[in-house]
Amino acid sequence: MSHANLGLTPRDASPGVKGGRLGPTLYGKVFCDLTAPLDQKEAEVEASRCYYCYDAPCIRSCPSEIDIPSFIRKIGSGNVKGAAVDILDANILGGSCARVCPVETLCQEACVRDKADGKPVEIAKLQRYATDAYLETFEKTKEQHFTREKSNGKKVAVIGAGPAGLSAAHNLARMGFDVTIFEAKAKAGGLNEYGIAPYKVADNFAAREVAFILSIGGIKIEYGKALGKDLSLDGLRKDFDAVFLGVGLGANNALGVPGETLDGVQDATKKIEEIRQTKDLSKVAVGRDVLVVGGGNTAVDIAVQMKRLGAEFVTLVYRRGEEQMGATWHEREIAANNGVLLKTWAMPKEIRGEKAVREMEFEYTELSGSKLVGTGKTFTLKADQVFKAIGQKLVAPTGLELDGSKIKVDANFATSLPGVYAGGDCVKEGEDLTVTSAQHGKLAARAIFAKLFPGKALPYFVPSPNPQDDGRSLAVPAPGGKI
Ligand SMILES: Cc1cc2nc3c(=O)[nH]c(=O)nc-3n(C[C@H](O)[C@H](O)[C@H](O)COP(=O)(O)OP(=O)(O)OC[C@H]3O[C@@H](n4cnc5c(N)ncnc54)[C@H](O)[C@@H]3O)c2cc1C
Ligand code: SF4
Repeated sequence: MSHANLGLTPRDASPGVKGGRLGPTLYGKVFCDLTAPLDQKEAEVEASRCYYCYDAPCIRSCPSEIDIPSFIRKIGSGNVKGAAVDILDANILGGSCARVCPVETLCQEACVRDKADGKPVEIAKLQRYATDAYLETFEKTKEQHFTREKSNGKKVAVIGAGPAGLSAAHNLARMGFDVTIFEAKAKAGGLNEYGIAPYKVADNFAAREVAFILSIGGIKIEYGKALGKDLSLDGLRKDFDAVFLGVGLGANNALGVPGETLDGVQDATKKIEEIRQTKDLSKVAVGRDVLVVGGGNTAVDIAVQMKRLGAEFVTLVYRRGEEQMGATWHEREIAANNGVLLKTWAMPKEIRGEKAVREMEFEYTELSGSKLVGTGKTFTLKADQVFKAIGQKLVAPTGLELDGSKIKVDANFATSLPGVYAGGDCVKEGEDLTVTSAQHGKLAARAIFAKLFPGKALPYFVPSPNPQDDGRSLAVPAPGGKI
């Protein structure tokens, strides 16, 4: 059943905040896979559409530098395992990136076939085809391409088991480091496990990918261990040869308007986490009139999820125009297909209610030069739930220099503290995406190797889409996260 046309009835449209708004038979299907995977025939046909461009623009638009034409060529010739190895060598989270990457603004936007005939090669679907086959074989046979070098005698602590931390840990373990991941939560995966929309990573994919990543060996995870609470940077620097911070962005921005503490007003990421972790979706409390404040992917995600869980009206309110929204056109299309209403050029003024939220007042906005200002004209929307999705911020570890609101790093992802590296959402470099975080982790791992083993070549061959690079040169990332 496709995601867009899943019927949402029978459903309870009465006012209030309650679970069980959908008919019981619907919950099993409500977060079905957003994109149907390709079968072998479809994959081969799609692969045949690739022109195998020289100096391919799709590679230049991939933050993790996957050699896209190379893996597509391998799919076309039936070498699906080789295709997967190409992908995973560049990005060990290639399976989740195939599902969650906003390819419409990355590789597929750059694909020459998009420009030539308005339909890019479906790179993400092909990537998923290859990596899914690889993962399924691994799960059946426990055989895999990635092996760990014998221990090099050095220990690295990785803080956070999100995409950045997992990518760093895998690359480090592969080089022979003994890695310990300290993770504050009870599960690994970071936002892949706790934040990404469930219909993008259906079938427990995040946990399956984590199991595959850890299977390389040499990586120990300590759950329920938080830096700043159970661990200190000073202590870690004494006990380990290097530290990598992949702590993401742990806090949410506030609206700063009256009524924010009323019942029913919540951070979108908290609700998404509840939805991702619940064993029974019918227990998730859903309002009849739901408001979402924000214009990014998190705003779209919570809006779509509440709608699919049976909210009668979900309105996403954004302070600027549709063109300025952080959510890509593809995400906005998902919202529209799911019946989410969009109200632009309006900013929050007050949330009202007695104990719980009843309504929210907004002020229309406009541009005065380049400055966004209120017009003085207001309107009020009925609400029994309000979700705040206006961005997240770093809970900064103490003792580190910051660059604005994020951890300051140099081109090698080294922080201001010797031996301490950082990557992923907690640094300014690149967009806050799974693929960027995976790339940071990979490059930081290489930089740690270069620092601790100066002049030594990487212990394994790293295929590079850059013909000038013999693959063994130590990656010294340039600003922008690229080698
Ligand atoms: C709702 C939502 C939807 C998103 N959807 C997409 C999408 O569709 N596509 C996409 O590409 N990107 C998406 N993103 C962004 C993407 O999830 C992030 O860019 C990516 O997960 C960042 O990886 P990270 O490893 O830096 O941080 P995280 O994934 O945030 O992982 C950080 C890890 O560190 C742990 N941690 C934090 N503090 C500490 C501490 N003090 N001690 C120990 N452990 C700690 C956390 O528990 C967590 O496991 C989304 C983000 C959100 C919020
Ligand atoms: S730009 Fe498109 S056609 Fe060219 S190599 Fe990349 S996927 Fe193939």
